[in-house]
This record gives sequence, structure tokens and C-alpha cells, in this order.
Amino acid sequence: MQASGLVCLDCGHTHGLGVFSYECDRCGWPLGVAYAPDGFSSSAAREILISARRMWDFFDFLPLDRSDAIVELGEGGTPLLEASSGDGDGKGAEVFLKNETLNPTGAFKDRPLSVILSMARQHGVERVVTGSSGNAGVAMSAYAARAGIDAVVVVPQTTSREKLLAIKAFGAQVVQIAGTCSDSLSVANDLCAKHDWLCATTTYRNPFGLEGDKTVAYELLRDMDFRPPTHVFVPIGSGPLLTGCYRGFQDLARWGLLDEPPRMIGVQARGCAPIAAAYEKGTEHVEAWAHSDTIATGIADELKGYEFDGVLSLRAARQSGGAVLSVSDQQIIEAMESLAGSWGVLAEPTGAVGLAGLRQYARTHGFSRGDRAVCIVTGCGFKDSVGISRFVDTDKLPVVEPSLEALEHVVT
Ligand SMILES: [Zn+2]
Repeated sequence: MQASGLVCLDCGHTHGLGVFSYECDRCGWPLGVAYAPDGFSSSAAREILISARRMWDFFDFLPLDRSDAIVELGEGGTPLLEASSGDGDGKGAEVFLKNETLNPTGAFKDRPLSVILSMARQHGVERVVTGSSGNAGVAMSAYAARAGIDAVVVVPQTTSREKLLAIKAFGAQVVQIAGTCSDSLSVANDLCAKHDWLCATTTYRNPFGLEGDKTVAYELLRDMDFRPPTHVFVPIGSGPLLTGCYRGFQDLARWGLLDEPPRMIGVQARGCAPIAAAYEKGTEHVEAWAHSDTIATGIADELKGYEFDGVLSLRAARQSGGAVLSVSDQQIIEAMESLAGSWGVLAEPTGAVGLAGLRQYARTHGFSRGDRAVCIVTGCGFKDSVGISRFVDTDKLPVVEPSLEALEHVVT
């Protein structure tokens, strides 16, 4: 689609289409991409969805002008797994898992970073910076390597060793901040502003990130044979994946491919749940979280200094008829165990938060017959061995002499 500019996600004030624009001139809130009327017929849009095999097959729905600027590594086109049997605990709903761990760097973040780095390449950007809890930093450094663009990643000290190793392997500079996730994002923003480097932070900071996230919705509708989901469970820190998916479903509704977007249900970890707290209080206002404490480090975002990000996610969840929940670390561990043991999906703690949320929602809200619920499994367990070791460990593995007798002695 022809991107026509950037629009404030709060007041609607319009801005020119610049890659270095991050906030509204009038109110300071984040921006999103605005498009000229696309005029896609229902059948034309459906045809594109059916034939797409990778994210950039949705080129017509994305903001890039030049296809030769695309920076891709095979992102998108991730599997949708049927998970109603086993212990999905949907209690009446059909349950599906959108396995985003199969993106090139093991997380959905490859989608927004592919779009952001492609926009960067189209505009001749030489250096990109991101503040990240980890996965976005890994994705950005991989796509920057592919694009030949210099990368700097700023992370909190809670970032897993595996993620730090990956960022270094992709050749980015990585700096750990002795502070919170919010601190990392804030100083990364300051660094960009001072040096005119491109800020690729994927909270809502870089407006092009949402455009990659929305492609998850396109794939869901297609892979569910155009019988849309009724509920989509999304792990959220600040929540751009929830809003991005919601935008994707709004596109699909505008093209006549579904009646209305599904209920978007944001799921936070109880140890860092500023948006869920606002939802429970029934307020429009989101307050920053004082001290995050959860194994789901990928969504341990206190929102300090950018509380409006939380408001945007809260609005999208409410507008869709959805909700924002929080789940305990114990619920997350149980969901990780089920994902691995029942469906062969190794998720990091954050990646299992959607399933933990679905189980809670089944108890607190309930599903109706005919409901179709999707959990987005956002990130892979290979990148967080400490998280995986919360439900399995290798400390007491048997070691035996290389003989059949000794082997048979320990195999039960
Ligand atoms: Zn504004």
C-alpha cells in the first residue's frame, strides 16, 4: 500500500513520512504509518493472502516503496498448530498455537525488525540503535548484519547469556545497563537523538515496527481457512504486537474478509503488570511499574517514561472487546512444560505467557462453543536456558559405562 505519512496514535495529527520521526509534534505520543486508500477488493486481498509464503509476499500491504531495499532472512510464514487436544485447557474452545519461535532468530521480533531495517536501507541509514530486553536486540543485529548497517544494542542486565552471545555473533555492539528495561530504552533513545542515529526500538518507538507485527493477523486468518479466531492471546510488555495484530485484523475487516476483529487479550507477568493493573482498575491511565520481578524477562517492561505505550495497548484490547490479564511465574512454567511436552514447542518463559493467559481466561471468563482461540508463542526457549531450567534440568542425568547392560540398567 502507498504509505502517505505518519499519524499520531493518540491525537491523529498527521506528519510527513520520515524514518527519523518517532513522536507527535503536538502531544509527544507515538506515531503509526498512515496509508492512502488502498482500494483492494476482497478477492484481490484474499488472493495475496493465499499465495503468500513469507512475510514480504505481503509487500503490497507494507510501507516500503522499493522491493530492492528489502532486508529478509526468511521471517514469517510460521506454523499454526492445532492444540485443542492434550492439556490446552481451552474448555470448549478450539485452541491454536501460532509458533513464532520458528522465525530466523527465534522470535516474532524478526517481523518488525525486517520492516524497520528495510526502511533504513531504503533511506540510506548507516547506523541503527535499539533499546531491548533481548529478542529485539538479537533480531536487529541479525537484520543489520544482512543489510550491512552498523548496529548498537542496549539491554538491561537481566538479558540472557544466549541472547547476548547471539547479538555479539551478529557483529553488533552490545551494552548492558545497570538498571531496568525502561532505563535501557530511555538511554538508547537519548543516544539516537544526540547522534542522529536511527532508533529501531520496537516498543512503539519506531512506527514501522507495528507494520511487521500486523502480518501475524494476515497469516492467522489464512491458516484458519478464513474462519477467523474469536480470541487472540498475546504476551505483552508495552504491547505493540497486540496493537499490530489488531491493525492487521482491522485491515482484513476493511477488505471484507472478516466481520470484526477478534477479542485481543494481552497477557502480562504478574511481577510486571502495569497494563493489567489499569485494566483491572477500569482506568484509561497506565502507571509505570515500580520493580519488575518475573522469569518472563521479555515482557518485564516497567513503561517508566513511556506509560502512553501501555495506554495504546489497553485501548486496543478494550476496543476489540478483549481484556488484559496477568499470570504468575508458576502458571508460566506450567505453560512452558505443556508447550514442550504436549506439542513439541520449546518456548522461553515469555513465549508461554499466551497459553498461561488462555488457561486463566477459560476459568475467569469462559469460552463459548464455537470459539476459536489463538495463543501467540512469541519466543524460543533455546535463547533462555535459565528459563527452561525452571521445569527441567540436566544436573542429575545418568552417566554409565558404554555397555548394553549398564544402559539397560538405567533406562526405565
Ligand atoms: Zn498527537
